Amino acid sequence: MPDKPKVKFTLDGRELEAVEGTLVIDAAKAAGIEVPHYCYHPGLGNPGVCRLCMVEVEGAPKPMVSCRLPVKAGMVVKSDTARARKAQASSLEFHLANHPLDCPVCDQAGECFLQDYYMRYGLYRSAVREDKLHKEKRLDIGPTVVLDQERCILCTRCTRFLSQVTKTNELGIFNRGDHDVLAPYPGRRVDNPYSGNIVDVCPVGALTDKDFRFKVRVWYLDETPSLCTTCARGCSIDLHANNRRPWHTPDERVVRFKPRHNPEVNAWWMCDEGRYSYKQIDSRLRLKFASRLVDGRPEAVAAKEAAARAAQELSALVKAKGPQGLAVVLSGTLSNEDLFAARRLFVETLHCGMLLAAPGPDQLGEGDDVLRRKERVPNHIGALALGFGARIPDTTWGGLRAAVEGGKLWGLYVIDRDPLAVWGKGSEKLLSGLAFTAYQGSHANRFSTAAQWVLPACSFAEEDATFTNFEGQVQRSRAAVPPLGESRPDWEIFRDMLAALEAPQAWTSAGGVFAELAKAEPPFASMAFEDLGMHGKRLARAPGPGSGPPGAGSGGDRA
Ligand code: SF4
Ligand code: SF4
Repeated sequence: MPDKPKVKFTLDGRELEAVEGTLVIDAAKAAGIEVPHYCYHPGLGNPGVCRLCMVEVEGAPKPMVSCRLPVKAGMVVKSDTARARKAQASSLEFHLANHPLDCPVCDQAGECFLQDYYMRYGLYRSAVREDKLHKEKRLDIGPTVVLDQERCILCTRCTRFLSQVTKTNELGIFNRGDHDVLAPYPGRRVDNPYSGNIVDVCPVGALTDKDFRFKVRVWYLDETPSLCTTCARGCSIDLHANNRRPWHTPDERVVRFKPRHNPEVNAWWMCDEGRYSYKQIDSRLRLKFASRLVDGRPEAVAAKEAAARAAQELSALVKAKGPQGLAVVLSGTLSNEDLFAARRLFVETLHCGMLLAAPGPDQLGEGDDVLRRKERVPNHIGALALGFGARIPDTTWGGLRAAVEGGKLWGLYVIDRDPLAVWGKGSEKLLSGLAFTAYQGSHANRFSTAAQWVLPACSFAEEDATFTNFEGQVQRSRAAVPPLGESRPDWEIFRDMLAALEAPQAWTSAGGVFAELAKAEPPFASMAFEDLGMHGKRLARAPGPGSGPPGAGSGGDRA
């Protein structure tokens, strides 16, 4: 089908251009004009039930809803005249008739469409004299969500999400007139892997997240654009950190993830597993300081000194026993910069004999046809693009175990994985024949407890980095909170080890590592760290067919 032509039309006195048929509400948004709305969501369609997005159209006898109005050539639209604003305010008044004005105790305050519009239109004196209708204030409708029926304005965003995206249809609207009520169908609960999204799409405080509600007021939160690292989709997210009222959430600096619109990756959505994975950032298992096992007990060593000493020990063993006996386990949790630096150290400098980088049973889970990928790491494709598994052959967990048991290895350097968890109960004894064991990572595990060296790495939320998703989309994560203790980005640890081996690198930032990587690696050619923007860029040679997100569409974060 040929592309539709662009047409000229006028909006609030400005001459604009849009593809014929674009909805006026979208064209207005693209021009920086927000027409108030509740029910319209670019990812969920335009039922036109809230009647809030009224605009005047020259030649039309009455104001019209802009979410169902396609742009036509020569059309003249006004969204901010006294008549349009009166129509918008009248619709809002209907929504306020039974809505409790309980903003001071509502968890949505500060990010509520109704509160914003109430303030914008100044409808402070209600014309309704009757008592407001009372409905259920706290309905437990699923493992993640609580429903306040009084606050619901029946916009149907949540029911449309559940029918169009997850196709699970747990919620419906029952009864008639002002007795209309949102509720689960009999015997149903909102219990699907994407349930948290209905909280995001709800424009008011009717649906709240059990995990977040009443934790901290949203205006105290700092928002950092990042990505979810729980699976190979790499959903774009905003990471919300409580840096200003830390005593409200003392053990959690990062208090929630919210999906960020990215038409190339996740549309407007994210899964619950990824949403609640923020808890890993400040988990009690985080490693904060470096150590060396001495007589079976960990002894603290300054992080930089530990990197240098571990490198020197490794180098001496390589000289004495040969590089073939050194095995390195890498992880798709590492960023592109980390993997590039790891390659420089282990492959190009130490010439290790065995490598394991691909996700094995320890990093595979359940996938689905909405977003979730079975590879539970964010950067397996980045590792492939850097030659791991192809130019640099990969072994398997079984192959590695056989090499340890067969006495072929003298050293094992593990990054962010746990061989002992894969090999099962009692496998600690396999390590006794090794002259060198090191664990580098952000969280403690069985292997880190048994390893001679522990080098703490920071979490993705504490560093600038890039990750390549399963479709080859290279995206940036940005530091939202400072690293815990002496933990550092993995590439920094490798840089210090290389310096100790008299192979110094001039890297001072993740951007600097990425610049070198982009110069050396054809799939990343022509990419620049600073130009990756909010949506990322696709590798020059994308690795195989992917599947885009459902209803990718266009539009910004506030939908
Ligand atoms: S709960 Fe929220 S999203 Fe669902 S219909 Fe009510 S107002 Fe709309
Ligand atoms: S689909 Fe994957 S990347 Fe997206 S939120 Fe879920 S776990 Fe995270």
